[in-house]
Amino acid sequence: MENIVYLNGEFLPLEDAHISPFDRGFNFGDGAYEVIRSYAGKFFRMDDHLNRLLYSLHELMIPPVDITSVSHLITQLLEKNKLAMSDALVYMQVTRGVFPRSHQLPSQEIRPTVFMSVSQFQPQHDLQETGVKVILFPDIRWTRCDIKTISLLPNMMARNKATSEGAIEALFVRDDIILEGTRSNFCAIYRDQLITAPTSRFTLAGVTRKVVLELCKSVGIPTYENPIYANQLRHFHEMMILSTSLEVTPVVQVDNTIIGDGKAGEITRRLQDAFHKLVEKLQVQAELS
Ligand code: PLP
Repeated sequence: MENIVYLNGEFLPLEDAHISPFDRGFNFGDGAYEVIRSYAGKFFRMDDHLNRLLYSLHELMIPPVDITSVSHLITQLLEKNKLAMSDALVYMQVTRGVFPRSHQLPSQEIRPTVFMSVSQFQPQHDLQETGVKVILFPDIRWTRCDIKTISLLPNMMARNKATSEGAIEALFVRDDIILEGTRSNFCAIYRDQLITAPTSRFTLAGVTRKVVLELCKSVGIPTYENPIYANQLRHFHEMMILSTSLEVTPVVQVDNTIIGDGKAGEITRRLQDAFHKLVEKLQVQAELS
């Protein structure tokens, strides 16, 4: 089936979508992005994702997009790709736009480049069952990781190292503190409490992390937003990585350290269950509206 994408006001086949070699996203990684899930055609926390996009654009001094029209365009894009009723992943990227290459920000206002694509998506349920291995990796990123920038070289390098070691994610460590993964947030369980790194300029404020903190509140799991030190790892009973595509995925091994008894723990299971119930509720609400 033809893959239809959205680029700067037009829906068109992927092979007809072209950008200028002077697009600042291409030259400098000068842009921001979002990845949004649609469960059977129902968006998960669309407002949180679009508000985070607005935040990223604001911090990068890129003019904002009109989020009402963006959510309408995403719906249209899913329809055009016959994914309106499917489990899908929406990718959207906004760059500063096209301007002759210079480190200096353009002196005149230029039109941002807006690109969106969609694809069918199923999370890896087997990994959510068995749990995964992750590695630790020195945080070689900049100090504005709160911006969801398209400049992802350190994330790619860390992920590549993880894959080469049979792991599915790398966790960035700065000053002995485990901050987050290359594409996920991280949390640990000590006794019956969930601990996750506080939001700061060193982590992305993940939408899934926010949802999990809300779920903890509703099912009565105490939460603490505190630094997690790499040398504390062996004391934790359970660990998880959290993201739009990984949802709540148990971590059972970090480098050579086995976490808990090497299986997904009880609190992880409760949170996975609560997460899936939330998704089901979203679908029922949408069907009744
Ligand atoms: N941290 C980083 C660096 C990410 O790239 C992502 C997602 O891509 C996350 C955390 C998780 O964010 P979310 O739950 O909003 O997908």
